Amino acid sequence: MVVQRIGVIGGGQLAWMMAGAAKKLGVKLVVQTPSKDDPAIAIASDWVLADIDDAAATARLACLSDVVTFENEFVDLTALQQLEQRGVRFRPRLGVLAPLLDKYEQRQYLHHLNLPVPQFAAVTPDFEPSFPCVLKTRRHGYDGYGTVIIRDRTEWDAALANLRDRPLLVEEFVPFERELAAIAARSVSGEFSLYPIVETQQVNQVCRRVFAPVRLEPSIALQIESITRTLLESLDAIGVLAIELFLTADQKVLINEIAPRVHNSGHFSLDACETSQFEQHLRAIAGLPLGNPVMRYPQAVMVNLLGYEVAQSDYAEKRKQLEQIPHSFTHWYGKSEARPGRKLGHVTVLLKQEDRHAAEAIAQEIEAIWYGDA
Ligand code: ADP
Repeated sequence: MVVQRIGVIGGGQLAWMMAGAAKKLGVKLVVQTPSKDDPAIAIASDWVLADIDDAAATARLACLSDVVTFENEFVDLTALQQLEQRGVRFRPRLGVLAPLLDKYEQRQYLHHLNLPVPQFAAVTPDFEPSFPCVLKTRRHGYDGYGTVIIRDRTEWDAALANLRDRPLLVEEFVPFERELAAIAARSVSGEFSLYPIVETQQVNQVCRRVFAPVRLEPSIALQIESITRTLLESLDAIGVLAIELFLTADQKVLINEIAPRVHNSGHFSLDACETSQFEQHLRAIAGLPLGNPVMRYPQAVMVNLLGYEVAQSDYAEKRKQLEQIPHSFTHWYGKSEARPGRKLGHVTVLLKQEDRHAAEAIAQEIEAIWYGDA
């Protein structure tokens, strides 16, 4: 089957960043997204304006596409299954998403594969927590929304009152030393490819910075590669998949979360790698051989530009300042409105030497320009 049109469920910045790769590979992108103002409308050859979980709209998307993929996994899986049975080709297939969409079921799936996860439990009415712990909504959490770190009974009661009626997962608080992420891909023929492992830094549970690559003990790097390979093969996944991990002070690796799609922690690859995660994903789902994920520079740092106010601004002045930073690449997602915490863009800076201190200083410089006194 020759893939010429790729349907993407979701029209945010992740779909928007597929544009360059789509052009290079000669494929067209058709997106399903709720609003004409969403970033990927600007680069799509066609679109279906509808919510992500509108399966009737996905049926229309499928009519316009040779294969359908996901930039957003908050879909109505049961309704989509009928489309898959009628022959719509989802890549990854829906069976890959099925064990991942609910964070509790995801933990169970990983645990059954003997992959390392924090201790976890579903919150039932008689559940007795011990502190500290982390409470998470089982579904639809993203960018830290729905994740609460709990220190004591008062915070527990307040969080439960706040999240009432939503199915919840509780897990041990992991006193991690670092957070890591692995972006991997698997092709139709079963070829496997792993990007250099990165360190991510979160502020208030939202990713702020990514350092690529991260220096790890060889045994840790091998363990992460093995976890990633096991996971993609067990899922029989096609496309890019992201794995967020904790590394503890005693060098224990635990999986935090799996995303069955391209991911924020892989944005550095757009400018830093021979093949970006976006091209890799399109290659995989189009049935092409995978590209080389190797970095073209010894070090890269990526900083998210998060909204810090409600405003309708394109922040032209700040973007101009960011562009003055040597070897920097500013990606501005073109969203019509800024809101606190909203991902508005990102900046990647490439370094000619591997120098973590220099990369940290660049991240600070970017944040000083972007956030100023905010
Ligand atoms: P989301 O799905 O919204 O990204 P995550 O579950 O990945 O939420 O959590 C966001 C951040 O919260 C993580 O990157 C980490 O910094 C922190 N976090 C999540 N779970 C734990 C945990 N069990 N222990 C310590 N910190 C955690």
